[in-house]
Amino acid sequence: MSLTACHICELGSSATDAQIVYRDGEWTIASPVPVPGWMMLFPDRHNDGAWDVDEKAALRLGPLLVALTGAVREATGAERVYSMYQGENALHFHFLVMPRGADVPQEWRGAGLVGRHAELVDADRSAVVLDKVRELLGARLGTL
Ligand SMILES: [Zn+2]
Repeated sequence: MSLTACHICELGSSATDAQIVYRDGEWTIASPVPVPGWMMLFPDRHNDGAWDVDEKAALRLGPLLVALTGAVREATGAERVYSMYQGENALHFHFLVMPRGADVPQEWRGAGLVGRHAELVDADRSAVVLDKVRELLGARLGTL
C-alpha cells in the first residue's frame, strides 16, 4: 500500500495542531472527527497491522492506551470508553477510542457506535474535550 492511499498516514501528516493531542515521534493521538472524545492512536510509521509494530513502539502502546482511555473517561464523564482496532478499512494499525456516555441509546452501544459518528458531531464540545484530554493525558503519562 502506498502512503498516499493510507488515510491514517494522511491524518498523521495533515492533522492540524488543534487535532493533535499527543505526538512523541513513535505514536500520535489525534482527533479524526469532531465527535467529543473520539480519538485515534496510531504509530507514525506505516504498517500493515499490530504484528508489524516494532518492539520500542510496542512497549509504549500499553501506557499510552491506558492513559488515553483514562483521560477520555475523565474529560467526558463517560460510563465506558471503547478502544477498537479492526484493521479492515485502514491497514495502518490504529485504535479508535470512543467514549460512551449514559445518554447514548441502548441500541447504539457496542461496536455499532462507530457508525453513529455523524449523529454525534459537536465541534464546539469536541474542542473543549480535546483541551481537557491533552491536560489529563500529560498528567497521566507522568505517572506511568
Ligand atoms: Zn499508513
